[in-house]
Amino acid sequence: MDIFRFRINKIYLLSQIVPWEYLPGREEYFDAFHQEFPREWRWIKERARKVVHDEDKGIFIVDTPDDIPRCSAEVKRFFVSVLRTKEFKMIVKETQESLFKVKKEWEKNQRRALVEFCDIVRLPLDPSCATVLITHPALPNGRNYPSQNAIGWTYRKDWKNYNTVYLMHEFLHLQTDGRFKREEVMHAIVELATDNELKIRLGGTGSYFEDGHSGLRKLEKKIYPFWKKYLQKNKENLIQFNRRMEKFV
Ligand SMILES: [Zn+2]
Repeated sequence: MDIFRFRINKIYLLSQIVPWEYLPGREEYFDAFHQEFPREWRWIKERARKVVHDEDKGIFIVDTPDDIPRCSAEVKRFFVSVLRTKEFKMIVKETQESLFKVKKEWEKNQRRALVEFCDIVRLPLDPSCATVLITHPALPNGRNYPSQNAIGWTYRKDWKNYNTVYLMHEFLHLQTDGRFKREEVMHAIVELATDNELKIRLGGTGSYFEDGHSGLRKLEKKIYPFWKKYLQKNKENLIQFNRRMEKFV
């Protein structure tokens, strides 16, 4: 069963690139952008993510700037111009290499990852395929867009199975969206399930609390003794466990 569809969407990629003054290691591309679009780049910097990201509706996954809803002709023209530059074409090419690497890691791991994931969360897998929008490797990205059933991701290799573990982290956010009352409790449980338990099971080594958001660490440590029992007892699924923890911690 395929749970991910890996894609590059140039408009989404551009919307993630434009807010940056420079990307590390790609200064020459940005020098060219600043030279070619001296005023526009500065002007759009603050607004670019909002162009494709609506607070309520999530992102717009469209194929051409013309299809972006509620977007001024000026912004559309700017997007079209940047898409045509040789620097942006290089960015797309480098992103394609990332897509290939993420896909390769995922294809190698997916069978085991899904078995372990299902064993940990005990929820039926959502049969609809999530779209994974790959962005440039110099660009930190790891987000989820539940209304579009999409994930924004960048290839990284901080440790073994890094992409697999964090894709499952974002996937679990999609699966649990709207099924909790306290976001921070759910997020802590998502991290216990993926950044910790799944990572250790896949890698065959490691210990808890090496990764994840430092702001959630305290809460995770509080939930941890109950989490260990949850894993042993096999009585609840992740949503039921979360409901119990929401009242408790
Ligand atoms: Zn998260």
